[in-house]
Amino acid sequence: MTATDGGAFSDHLAGELPADPQLVLVTDLDGTLLGGSVEWRRRFYGWLERQRHCVLHVFCTGRDLRSVAALLADDETHGLQAPHLVIGDVGCTVACGTSLELVPPAVDPIEVRWAGKSDRVGPLLVGAAGLSPQPISADRRLAYYYDPDAFDHDLIRLIEAQGVDCLLSDNKYLDVLPAGVNKGSTLLDLLAWLQVPAERVVTAGDTLNDLAMFQTGLAGVMVGNAEAALQRCLPELPRTYLAEGHGCQGIAEGLAHHGFGHLLGDLLEALKQEAD
Ligand SMILES: [Mg+2]
Repeated sequence: MTATDGGAFSDHLAGELPADPQLVLVTDLDGTLLGGSVEWRRRFYGWLERQRHCVLHVFCTGRDLRSVAALLADDETHGLQAPHLVIGDVGCTVACGTSLELVPPAVDPIEVRWAGKSDRVGPLLVGAAGLSPQPISADRRLAYYYDPDAFDHDLIRLIEAQGVDCLLSDNKYLDVLPAGVNKGSTLLDLLAWLQVPAERVVTAGDTLNDLAMFQTGLAGVMVGNAEAALQRCLPELPRTYLAEGHGCQGIAEGLAHHGFGHLLGDLLEALKQEAD
């Protein structure tokens, strides 16, 4: 995908994007946008809805589209609305946030990189100790639960020799991805199409599958509840801010840190009250 094929890209979007977004907010879901207190989640989702005309919101998640659809249909998500765009499957899927339909100009190149990989890697992992398949779709990736104590980490070298990347996160997830594809690479491709200045982009996450987003050098927010292994990477991530607040509160805190306080309205007031 390049900026020049933007026309083909927008043909696949059912919803309008902000014409001149002041902020592109790229959030992981579990532990990040779905994290924090119920009060903060309600507050933050309400803010996102009110700012929809000027904040371009992207989910960037390990979930597949079916799981994202179930989340958005759930009445118990405290007012969470659909984003403008979804990066799913740890960077292997790009979809319209409104329709959840795939965006082929973004997905097709990933599909090409994945061709034949599942047939080569899958058999290597059948019956492997400490490994069980996740009950989600396997579009352009394979997804497993792993037990850190029982799993043979030497297997990773064997798997990656097949032209894929292995990604361990949250001490329980093993994703097998097309080599070079991750949340960060897919986000950069998406931003090239959106043609938004990099200084208007903020990413937020909580586990090792978010590391690639932080490694892009875009402004990042590591929420306060981020897993220890991710927090240990902080010294190598000069543009990433470690928030004190968990989940949604941490995202708001990070936005203020990165100079977007003027967009936060009542969220800024709530942050000040928490600090007092
Ligand atoms: Mg997460």
